[in-house]
Amino acid sequence: MILTDLNDDERMLSDALSRFAEQELAPAMPGHLERHEFPAELVRTFGEMGYMGTSYDPDYGGGGLGTRGAAIVAEILARTEPSFAAIFLCNSAPCSLISRYGSDEQKRLWLQAANEGRMVASFGVTEPHGGSDVANIKTTAVQDGDDYIINGMKLFSTNAGTPTHGFSTVVAITDPDKGAKGLSSFIVPVGTKGFSVGKRASKIGWRFADSVELYFDNVRVPAGNMVGNRGDGLRQILTVLSIGRVLMAATALGLSRRAMDLAKAYGKDRKLFGKSILEHQGLAFPLADILTKIHAAELMVRHCACLIDANRPFRNETSMAKLFASELAVEAALKAIQVHGAYGIFEEYPVSGLLGEAKVLEIAEGTSEIQRLIISRELMD
Ligand SMILES: Cc1cc2nc3c(=O)[nH]c(=O)nc-3n(C[C@H](O)[C@H](O)[C@H](O)COP(=O)(O)OP(=O)(O)OC[C@H]3O[C@@H](n4cnc5c(N)ncnc54)[C@H](O)[C@@H]3O)c2cc1C
Repeated sequence: MILTDLNDDERMLSDALSRFAEQELAPAMPGHLERHEFPAELVRTFGEMGYMGTSYDPDYGGGGLGTRGAAIVAEILARTEPSFAAIFLCNSAPCSLISRYGSDEQKRLWLQAANEGRMVASFGVTEPHGGSDVANIKTTAVQDGDDYIINGMKLFSTNAGTPTHGFSTVVAITDPDKGAKGLSSFIVPVGTKGFSVGKRASKIGWRFADSVELYFDNVRVPAGNMVGNRGDGLRQILTVLSIGRVLMAATALGLSRRAMDLAKAYGKDRKLFGKSILEHQGLAFPLADILTKIHAAELMVRHCACLIDANRPFRNETSMAKLFASELAVEAALKAIQVHGAYGIFEEYPVSGLLGEAKVLEIAEGTSEIQRLIISRELMD
């Protein structure tokens, strides 16, 4: 089988999701973007159709299609509306944490609810002292009998505060004297006393998705809400972020394809100097380079997804895929705007929104510099 071939289940997923994207997502997009409004109803429908849980175990309401399946979802969503893909990506990180490390009870209660579209989840890692330095967090979780009491705050937690937000996963210091081995992860349900979220703010990217602050003011959760073992928090988060990077790369791939779709649709009808602008090599050759990189990004995404699903080492590869595909997305967005000339600057033209959407992909879940840091460690081996 060729790496990019879809199996029967993946083909069915791709066809059904493409119909959802075309018939429901695309028509609703402009209104939501204009009103800067989280698309609560669409998210609910998308969840109820089972797409949020595409990759997870069918025993917990998931689709059982692994990371390959989730990458297909991210790519198709992003080809229609990249910021809707963000809602999917950011729900995937906390679900992936519970799926990999959670107890059976946690999976039944939280993963299954998210997989069945009854709620969305948010991930709470980044803090004000610098998101890139993941280990340097200040939020604490102090044991008190059978409970932990959490105090602190998180930044930019995507999906939090939205109408179907059901829980956040949060990493906190449980053992201050143990450094990197003193962090643990917790599930914090919405509605827990002392747990609140900040106000949403408009952004130039992930415009559909809300990214807000999480506040923990003496939040008491049962010890049973700890995910996995005490002290494993950092290791878990680094793995989940690394898996998330293949979905970010898939989103970047979908966005780059959308940029090329829009460039092609506009460019072929725009005639200057007696021919279509796409026949001018000055414009066509850079687009040819982007098409070539799209092919490379697709292979990287599929390869990384296969590595994860086969339980093979994937950390460097997913960093490479995220780095390559997110920088490609920015290049593709810029070039597609250039093809549109002045129209590319006007919000009325969908191409204008792609640049901000692409730029987020170079920052969230680890910046390009952090990906280069991870990859360059290979040189020291
Ligand atoms: C739209 C959006 C949604 C997000 N959603 C979530 C979410 O749901 N949950 C969550 O926990 N976080 C979320 N984040 C946070 C995101 O993961 C962080 O923004 C990211 O990790 C970078 O952290 P920072 O913004 O604090 O930048 P900083 O860490 O302050 O970095 C600033 C700059 O310094 C550079 N830099 C840092 N260290 C080095 C180094 N060693 N070498 C070279 N350069 C370096 C960085 O690359 C960056 O360019 C989101 C971010 C955005 C933009």
